[in-house]
Parts: sequence; structure tokens; C-alpha cells
Amino acid sequence: MSSDADTPVLRNCIRLPLPEDELLEVTAKAKDYAIMHGAAMRSKTAFSPDSLNFAPFVLVPSSFPRKEFEKAVALQPIINRLMHNVAHDEEFITTTLAETIKVDEFTANLFNIYRKVLAHGFTQKISLGMLRSDLMLESGCPELSPRALRPAAGEDRGQAAAAVGAAAGTATVGTGRNKEQKQMQKEEQKEEEERKEDRESQLSRATGERDRRAAGVPSAYCCWKQVEINTIASGFGHLGPASKTIQRFVLSELGHADKLHNMPDNNALAGLCDGMVKAWEIYAKPKAVILFIIEDVSYNICDQRFHEFYIRETYPHIKVLRRTLTEVHREGKLGQAKELLLGSLEVAVIYFRAGYEPGHYHSQAEWDARYLMETSLAIKCPSIHYHLAGTKKVQQALAQPAVLERFINDPEEIKAVGKIFTGLYSLDDNEAGNASYEMALRTPERFVLKPQREGGGNNVYGVDIPDALKRMSRVERSAWILMDLIHPPLTKGYMVRPGGDMPPQIVDMVSELGIFGVVIGDAEHIVHNYQAGHMLRTKLSTANEGGVAAGLGALDSPYLIDSDDDDQEN
Ligand code: ADP
Ligand code: MG
Repeated sequence: MSSDADTPVLRNCIRLPLPEDELLEVTAKAKDYAIMHGAAMRSKTAFSPDSLNFAPFVLVPSSFPRKEFEKAVALQPIINRLMHNVAHDEEFITTTLAETIKVDEFTANLFNIYRKVLAHGFTQKISLGMLRSDLMLESGCPELSPRALRPAAGEDRGQAAAAVGAAAGTATVGTGRNKEQKQMQKEEQKEEEERKEDRESQLSRATGERDRRAAGVPSAYCCWKQVEINTIASGFGHLGPASKTIQRFVLSELGHADKLHNMPDNNALAGLCDGMVKAWEIYAKPKAVILFIIEDVSYNICDQRFHEFYIRETYPHIKVLRRTLTEVHREGKLGQAKELLLGSLEVAVIYFRAGYEPGHYHSQAEWDARYLMETSLAIKCPSIHYHLAGTKKVQQALAQPAVLERFINDPEEIKAVGKIFTGLYSLDDNEAGNASYEMALRTPERFVLKPQREGGGNNVYGVDIPDALKRMSRVERSAWILMDLIHPPLTKGYMVRPGGDMPPQIVDMVSELGIFGVVIGDAEHIVHNYQAGHMLRTKLSTANEGGVAAGLGALDSPYLIDSDDDDQEN
């Protein structure tokens, strides 16, 4: 989709291709390893509740620049706080979504629940946010333009090379008085020249990336931009760490155990589940349960059951229930203190793994169930205001100049968060929205068009945008936002899929990193706020979207590299 011949390529963690016999053997082993370690899903084509397929995965981890990874991890608690503050800003949510809810029925239904809850007051003031901020490297990052990249003092390659030369020069200063001295001098000079060559080649390796950028060539070691922020059903808490487990095994099998230290720790499952348990503790009723709201059929079952099993194994006194919205409508009621009761069980925490798309609400019954839960005393993940804060429209509004100042006090933090937004444009029926509309018609290849939906498969890309926009009325456009396409660098590797080629072929891929965050608090206080691991999804560079369950993406995990690593190392 967004790659062309100039797209930079990140170097691989090991030399590819692998010899065919080795590739066949390790791939077959890795498939079994994946199934047997729960990196699996239910088949959509041959569904059976009694069996699993391995989830598609990338055989060896895809490279990701270490600095950018660390930046994303460090920024997550700030993003958590930002989203928490946004969720609690009634005026901001109301004005931001005002136009959208006139034309988008699903968002309007969510907003109606919000409005009703606001009118009656929140029964439960605490919210549990389990967020995932998704990002892609941007090889055409504006901050890395030649001008912005002017080196700091002492960093310049020319200066440094001159310094090397000067140092070499001083070593040859002085005159020999006899032959021996001359001979010694010659040898010294030769050695020094060799050392100089060495230093210069080191230097050029270290600065090659800088040269690329200074020449205006897109960089593989680039900045990143946020794709979206998820506040509901942020998946891969289990599959993220599970991907690392498979690839760690594969690298070791291939004789590269020495490289494992470049695969960062990933405790997403524990981080997220501990978040639920912290909320359960705040609720403070020893017999109360944690309720997972699930779809009618859960294909991505491992990524839910492992959460349940982790909680049951780590905290055996906490019971976990799974119910659909329909079942909650049938079984649920409120007790005297508005506690949510399912039969005789009181619910402390509700974790929504469904409820984010219209198809999950078959009738008014499911909407009633959502409202019932929202008005209850249970701590929701997400509560309705958190759900609304995660809409694309809110993300677009946050990227507008000076908006972040409303939610973040520290100017450095505002700057850091501001940099992660790529161009996001309103399509509301006003002057700015109409200008974005014209811009999209003129240069559609620069953009992606997004509605207020989650779960993949809803966006419109590039050349398809004009037709889609022209089919909408002016007001209908305000249900959508326009976003600059991000151009991630490529990686090359083997994608392994159930029923796929054996051995797999080397393909061009791009990755999307998700950083998890947990934040718990009410409008006045945040009581817990931490980064909670990560996940990496990788898709063919030709695919627009890379949902793993949808069949286009594959599990992956980052292999951290530095721009000054020796390219010959593998
Ligand atoms: P959803 O809520 O459906 O997951 P996203 O905004 O995450 O919607 O978009 C779905 C997918 O589309 C992303 O995972 C990514 O692969 C691709 N995508 C979305 N926005 C961009 C963008 N600005 N540039 C490039 N690809 C994008
Ligand atoms: Mg997404």
C-alpha cells in the first residue's frame, strides 16, 4: 500500500534466506511450538470449539529501532494520563463528537448512554483504562528532514573526519635524523594511516544513517507516528508475549541464542491482568467476580482465556465469568446499591472484549445490557467515557494545535506527545472540514479515511477515497476523519500461515507496534498508571490493514537495533 522502490529497508536480525532444509525443519517445529504455547486461534473457515490453528507468525523477529521503541515505552504513562483526562472532560467529548453523532448511529448510541449516565451521576467513579497505543515508524518523518538533522556541535561527520586527519597529521610531525628513525617513522605513519582508515570506516558506518537522512533519503531508523489509540478490547496481551516466545525458540534453534538479549521483555499479560486485579481490590468485596464481555463466537480465544487462566492461577480467590451482551441482558440486574448481579454473583470489574462494533449489538437488548452495566457499581474497562475518548474523532481533535495543553501541564510532555501525531483532519461540515475534503480529492494517495469504528476493515485508502467521499452528503462526512498515510520502512522475512506455502517465501513486510498502558482512577485522582508491555503485528507491505484474526497480519515481536550497529554482524 504505502511502500515504493524508495522505501528504506531495516536490516534483518539474521542473514536470510535460510538454507531450504533448515527452513523447512525450523518452520515445522515453530508451528508446533506456536500451537503448544497458545499462539493460536480458532479457524474461521473450519470453526470448531474443540480445535485451534496456530496464529500466523513471522519466523524471526522484525527489527525495530531501539531508541524509538524506548521512546514509545517511556511515553506510555503520559499517554495514559492524557486519555484519562480526556475521558473525564465532559465538555471536550461533547463538543468534539457533536457533529459526528448527528450522522453516526453507533457513536450516537454510545453517546446517549454517556448522556444518561451523566444525568444521573456516575455510580462508580473509578475507571479502569487498559489502553493500547498503536504506532508505525514513519520513514518520511518531517522532523528528520535535512534541515532538522543539522548535527549538534562536535557531531558533524566532516568535522570528525577532519579531526581524525589532524590527529594523523600530528603523529607524523617531526623530522628523522637517521635512516632508522626514518624507517620507524614510515612504519608509524603506515600504522597510523591504517588506524585512520579504520576510524573513518567506523565513523562512516556510525554516520551512514545520518548521511542518508541529510541527503533527503527516507530513513529506516526514523521517528514513529501514532496510528490510533484503543481504549476498548485492546487485544494481544497474551499473543504479544507469545510471539516473543516462538521467535526466541526459533532464533535459538537456528544457533543465534546470542541475539536474544535484543528482544525486549514483554509482560503484557501480567501487566493487564494485574490491572484488572488492582481494580478488583479497589472494589473491595472478596466474593465479587471479574466479568469478561465476549462476542458470540471468540475466534481469538487464546488472547482471552490466557487472561482468565493467569488471573485464576495467580489469584485463585478471584473468579472470572464470561458472558455475551445478550446473556448479560438476560441474567443481569442491579442490586440495592446498584451492584451488578449475575444470578447470585456480584460483579466487581467488567472487562469488555466485545461491544466496540455495531454487529455486537443485535437488538435493543444488548444496548440495554450495556446501559445496565454502565449504571452499575462495577468498575468498567472501559467505562463509557473512556470508550468515547478512544474514538478516531477524539484522536483527530487531540492532534489540533494547542489542544493538548488542555490535558497536559508539562510543556516538555506536550511537545513529546505532539510529535507522535501525523496529520489528522476533520471532515465536519465547516470551512476547515471542506478544505480537508478538497485536499483529499486532490491528493487521495496521501491519505486514509477512517470512520468511528474499531476492529479493522473499516477504513478507505488512497485512490478509493474520492469515490467514497463523493457518495457521502456534506453532513455524512463528519462521521469520518482524514489522516496522513504513514510510510513505514520495510523488513524482509518469512510469514508462516496455516495452510501457507512450505517452505514459506521471503516477503516484504511492515510492522505496527502497540504499547499497552494501564491507568486507574477517577476524575480527580489517578491511583495506578503504568506501561504494560507491547505487541508487534506485521503484514505484507502490499496490504492496507494487518489484522491477525482478519487473516492479513502475523504475530511478531521487536528485535531492537541501533543505527550504528555493525551491518556485517550477522
Ligand atoms: P481499527 O480501529 O479498525 O483498528 P486503525 O486506525 O487501527 O483502525 O486502522 C486499521 C489498520 O489500518 C492499522 O492497523 C494500520 O495497518 C492501517 N492504518 C491505519 N491508519 C494508518 C495510517 N495513517 N497510515 C498507514 N496505515 C494505517
Ligand atoms: Mg487498530
